[in-house]
Amino acid sequence: MADYFQEMGWRELQDGEQPNHLLHMARFLIDFGVYGDDYSGEWPRLPPAASKEAVKNLPMITIQTKDKSCTICLLKFRYNEKAKELPCHHVFHKKCILTWLNQTNSCPFCRYELPTDDEEYEAFKKEKLRAEQRKEDVETLHNSMFS
Ligand SMILES: [Zn+2]
Ligand SMILES: [Zn+2]
Repeated sequence: MADYFQEMGWRELQDGEQPNHLLHMARFLIDFGVYGDDYSGEWPRLPPAASKEAVKNLPMITIQTKDKSCTICLLKFRYNEKAKELPCHHVFHKKCILTWLNQTNSCPFCRYELPTDDEEYEAFKKEKLRAEQRKEDVETLHNSMFS
C-alpha cells in the first residue's frame, strides 16, 4: 500500500512541514472506501451522493467552542467559525462536507445517512427496512407463541 502512495507522488511529511489537508481528505476517502471496490456492506458499492436538496437544507451553525474539529480535514474550528451541521449533529467545514456528500450520502464520522437522489438506492433501503420489519414481526410472533 505504501507503494501506491509513492506512485501517486505522495510521501510522509518532513519535519516542520504542514500537513496537506486536501491530501488527508483524499486518504480518508480511500480508507472510507469511496475509491475502492472492496466495500463490504450489503449495498454492493458505496452508497450514492447525498440528495442535492438535502445538502442544500443542511443548517450552518456557529461554533461556540474551541475544541471541535472537522473530521474530514482534521483542522480545528475557530471560535465563532461557521460550519455545516448534519442531522446527527456532527459538524464540518462547508467545503469539506460538500465535497464529501458529493461522493456518498453518509456522515464520515458516524455513517448517518442522508437521503439520496438515487431511486435504485432508495428502493434498496426501503426493501431492507421492510425485511427488518418482517424479521421483527416473526420474532414478536414467535415470542408470543412460546412465552
Ligand atoms: Zn474540514
Ligand atoms: Zn455523524
